[in-house]
Amino acid sequence: MNATTHSAPKQNASKPIKGQTYTTDFFDLDEDWTEEQRAAIDQVRRFVDNEILPTINEDHNVEKLPDDIMAKIGQLGILEMLADGTLDPITYGLICREFERGSSALRSIVSVQGSLVIGCIRDNGSDEQKERWLKPLGSMEAVGCFGLTEPDFGSNPSGMVTRAEKTDKGYVLNGAKCWITSGTLAHVAIIWAKLDGVVKAFLVPTDTPGFDSAAIKGKWSFRTSDTGQLFLADVEVPESALMPGAKSLGRAMATLNNARYGIVWGVAGAARGCFEECLDYLQNRVQFDNRPLTCHQLIQNKFAWMAAEITSMELIAKRLGELKLDGRLKPHQVSLAKMNNCRKAIEIARTCRELMGANGIHSEYHIGRRLVDLETVLTYEGTEHIHSLILGQAITGIPAYS
Ligand SMILES: Cc1cc2nc3c(=O)[nH]c(=O)nc-3n(C[C@H](O)[C@H](O)[C@H](O)COP(=O)(O)OP(=O)(O)OC[C@H]3O[C@@H](n4cnc5c(N)ncnc54)[C@H](O)[C@@H]3O)c2cc1C
Repeated sequence: MNATTHSAPKQNASKPIKGQTYTTDFFDLDEDWTEEQRAAIDQVRRFVDNEILPTINEDHNVEKLPDDIMAKIGQLGILEMLADGTLDPITYGLICREFERGSSALRSIVSVQGSLVIGCIRDNGSDEQKERWLKPLGSMEAVGCFGLTEPDFGSNPSGMVTRAEKTDKGYVLNGAKCWITSGTLAHVAIIWAKLDGVVKAFLVPTDTPGFDSAAIKGKWSFRTSDTGQLFLADVEVPESALMPGAKSLGRAMATLNNARYGIVWGVAGAARGCFEECLDYLQNRVQFDNRPLTCHQLIQNKFAWMAAEITSMELIAKRLGELKLDGRLKPHQVSLAKMNNCRKAIEIARTCRELMGANGIHSEYHIGRRLVDLETVLTYEGTEHIHSLILGQAITGIPAYS
């Protein structure tokens, strides 16, 4: 049944109306970007508008990835730039913002392939591993995944039970990983495992005997993303599978911080998408006195609050990018930003959902999907609690995890 009872617009196509200073960029940040950065924004924005938004809610409803999504992302050339190290952090952040304006699950494919896999290999891999994997991962001919979380160890990965044992020929891996993005599609997996009690990373082709995966079905969030379990039963890998730079859990955390940086930008895009769709809808939705719903003070108050929050989220993201560019970015700064921006994005999505009334719960609009996808973003790559504990330790000097 089609739930729509009126003709309010369904796509993100906001244009200023007379007397409206319409923007989700209240501080004119977009004027600061270089020509190249603007070109990257336009490229991803067009991709999202043409290739993603028209069909993603249907994909979400039947729990499937958008058709040929890996190849299409590969063709954008963005991951190739990450693989050869020519994409600056601010441009990468803006790209994440634009992807997530369309879909958090889509941005997550880019973050996992880009930050967690390509980034991890660039920072920790041997020359041989870089030579073998960076090019196909950059073009998306090969898909990668990052296996840290386990069924019994999520927030506390140091408790992981996956083990590596030294053999004459290399290593043998045993264990299981859970909630792994692109887990069933991946050609290569970064597997974090304890070797003599110390966490290390191994680069494991997924066709290695003993390696298996299974899709986690029945998610009501990230339904357009592949999430898998990984099983390792006596997986024999050569000596060269060990990633030489990944000497401890700290390297996994450093890799995650790069991905969290993309999330900080990404969720600002999700918030923009919610704001734009909701504003379009309410500008065209008439209830009392033949005037749009946006004429009411209660509603304008909510848009004013959201505009202020989106502006602060983007200022935080931009400052983080500047610190990263300077090589001065600290983990607790990333935690502050991830915690703040994810919480704000989900509050904005919820507010927009409410403002759109009954149609706000229907998949003819994007708002409900954006809201449920943000639930995953709030949890993965460190939950809100964990980031507040990292921040709490930085503020007080006292670790309060246990
Ligand atoms: C769709 C999706 C994709 C994912 N992709 C990946 C991936 O590609 N690779 C990967 O390795 N992982 C991935 N994850 C896993 C994700 O990182 C974990 O779910 C996350 O770290 C939380 O772990 P958990 O789910 O086990 O929750 P738990 O650790 O069981 O936490 C449950 C609750 O307890 C709270 N909590 C835990 N410890 C404390 C404490 N000390 N003090 C206060 N509160 C605490 C948490 O904040 C949370 O609210 C993904 C998850 C999802 C949902």
